[in-house]
Amino acid sequence: MPIRLASHPDTPTPLGKGTVSPVFLCDACAKPIEDARHALYLMQRDAPGRPYSEIVYCHKGPCFETLNSPDGFAYADDLTDFAITLLNRAHLSHILSPEYRF
Ligand SMILES: [Zn+2]
Repeated sequence: MPIRLASHPDTPTPLGKGTVSPVFLCDACAKPIEDARHALYLMQRDAPGRPYSEIVYCHKGPCFETLNSPDGFAYADDLTDFAITLLNRAHLSHILSPEYRF
């Protein structure tokens, strides 16, 4: 249930009220992940002929335990690391503190 756009109709903006913004949704409970420090991203095992893996997002703790299985995921890491890597890969590292740039 990857990244979705959520509407925020009451959020004030320079042009009035209402905006949309991307949010991570947990693949276990379907709720928004409000704080990346309390979430993980998971990479599914490679499949022949597929150079890229689907990404699964979840809250740490019970949500991760719900999704995890012995032959489940090839990799899991903090969602904060995912966001930092994505910003670097998208050539947006200038908005990060120097210690997070690569
Ligand atoms: Zn969850």
